[in-house]
Amino acid sequence: MSIIVQKFGGTSVADSQLILAAARKAIRAQRTGHEVVVVVSAMGQNTDLLIDLAKEIHDRPPAREMDMLMSTGEQVSAALMAMAVEALGYRAVSLTGAQIGIRTDSTHTKARIRSISTERMQALLDTGNIVIAAGFQGIDEERNITTLGRGGSDTTAVALAAVLHAAECEIYTDVDGVYTTDPRILPEARRVERISYDEMLELASLGAGVMHNRSIEFAKRYGVPIHVRSSLSDTPGTLICSEPEVADRAVCGAAVMRNEARIALVGVPDVPGTSLEIFSRLADRKITVDMIVQNVGEAGKSDISFTVPRDELPAALEAVREAADIVGVDEINTDENVSKVSVVGLGMARQAGVADKMFAALAAEGINIQMITTSEIKISTLVEQDAALPALRAVHRAFELEREPALTSAALGEQPTVAVGAGNGPDFSGLVERLKGTDMEELMLDDISLDQSQALVTIAGVPDRPGVAAAVFRSIGNEGIFVDMIVQSHKGAQGQASLSFTVPAAQLTHTLSVARRLADAYQCRTVMHSPSVAKLSVSGIGLRSHTSVAIRMFRALADAGINVDMISTSELRVNVVIDGRRGERGLAQLQKAFEGVLR
Ligand code: ADP
Ligand code: ASP
Ligand code: MG
Repeated sequence: MSIIVQKFGGTSVADSQLILAAARKAIRAQRTGHEVVVVVSAMGQNTDLLIDLAKEIHDRPPAREMDMLMSTGEQVSAALMAMAVEALGYRAVSLTGAQIGIRTDSTHTKARIRSISTERMQALLDTGNIVIAAGFQGIDEERNITTLGRGGSDTTAVALAAVLHAAECEIYTDVDGVYTTDPRILPEARRVERISYDEMLELASLGAGVMHNRSIEFAKRYGVPIHVRSSLSDTPGTLICSEPEVADRAVCGAAVMRNEARIALVGVPDVPGTSLEIFSRLADRKITVDMIVQNVGEAGKSDISFTVPRDELPAALEAVREAADIVGVDEINTDENVSKVSVVGLGMARQAGVADKMFAALAAEGINIQMITTSEIKISTLVEQDAALPALRAVHRAFELEREPALTSAALGEQPTVAVGAGNGPDFSGLVERLKGTDMEELMLDDISLDQSQALVTIAGVPDRPGVAAAVFRSIGNEGIFVDMIVQSHKGAQGQASLSFTVPAAQLTHTLSVARRLADAYQCRTVMHSPSVAKLSVSGIGLRSHTSVAIRMFRALADAGINVDMISTSELRVNVVIDGRRGERGLAQLQKAFEGVLR
């Protein structure tokens, strides 16, 4: 008999009637021949209420006690859900994370799952019960209650589906699927039939709050198909699986993170090891850093800036000040009035002109781009907070995301199977067995690679006004030159930004003539270049939340005295650009540093 995991989010269990409705869905699945595990979130806004209560008592409540407190929300829903199933004439038993045996590390409020025991759940399922699991929580080695981070019930659900070899994990929520962007922000957003793990992983970590990003790491790692659907209707929703909706569509979705903060360290000595000092301290505090931009150094000094979620700014500043005391920095400044707008798509890795389309859409609205970072399947821009929504709308429109994908052969191909009860689930081929004994969320890398085919161009002293990036990349794109990595710093002390990007080395001369022409036209200070750079990439799953990857790369390179010129991070890859002559040495260092972690 196949197992199905159903997860009901907060709004889907917000009152007794909704809980009864959810219980009916679980019973229906059982009656059609499944064993059913239900994962529940706290009712309505209960988690927020608990957090507010704690803050009334303590302005920085101890994390352990926050977990004690927050985990109660899910326990309430679980007990009520079990009662609802019983009231409808069926059998159910509710279990907390600890009762199931969901073991985590001890990072309170952001714990990672290490292992899950299936015995108790399986025994209950075998005797005809619906198992109701409290989401979002686990227990550490000392039997302290832990929670998995906001939105973490999705991760509980997918993790249970993985260890139970479930046929599918259904996520019931207050929207009827995954949209091209948050439909509550942009009503013109379109529901997608299907989205790939990689795209969903990026979107979730760039602001698409419909799924907890770590749940997608689990799904990808263990091959769990996820079906996101409405708890209020029976319409099919969105399947999250290994295939994208349409092969080759450059952009599949857009996301915004409105509450970001930028930190800049100005005048950092440009020597190996400084990034390590800074980012290792942030990683120790489990702060997820994004949009790391390092200005190409002048006079032996460089500027390093990056973004963090705004509510983590105080902790991040504490970390940064510690590092600054050691490495020496002229100034630290912050901007709390910024938002990140990103686009994601598997197809952009193979298509030119995606970045310039995004930048042109922003320029046409008069929106100034403060920072840019890109990776293979995403482009992120930082804009002032007031511009976030116009920016999202402009970008969504520019990529025509509201329109049904063209009827390409890929779109006409096999449709996703979303019917409950289809098949016996994915063939895990012993994957769960093989991974036994390792932490379930442990880092897993696919590849470490070296690319020595590119050159680096930097336009320094770019005036801080809309349209420059758009003009640069439009002109370069028109020449048929494929731009790979792009970073743009925010304006420095002189109110000017710098724009760096990599192109195929063979096209450097051509690129430079275009860049110089534009630099003149836009009164940029100068154009600099390195004819040969080495790009080192480490790829795997969930690398951004495993901040340790970038740190290990920095450490390995710093140990060999290698300076990092440029960095880009995504869920799937961390790329660094270094001096071309040191490529082989850098690669060897990374291979040594990640020995034993490669799959
Ligand atoms: P739950 O309580 O069920 O876990 P969440 O509030 O966590 O629900 O997630 C659902 C919400 O995610 C939706 O109401 C929607 O506003 C938001 N959302 C953000 N981005 C997207 C997106 N790309 N597609 C669908 N919903 C999204
Ligand atoms: N109740 C928790 C939260 O609000 C977990 C969840 O809903 O997924 O973050
Ligand atoms: Mg959620």
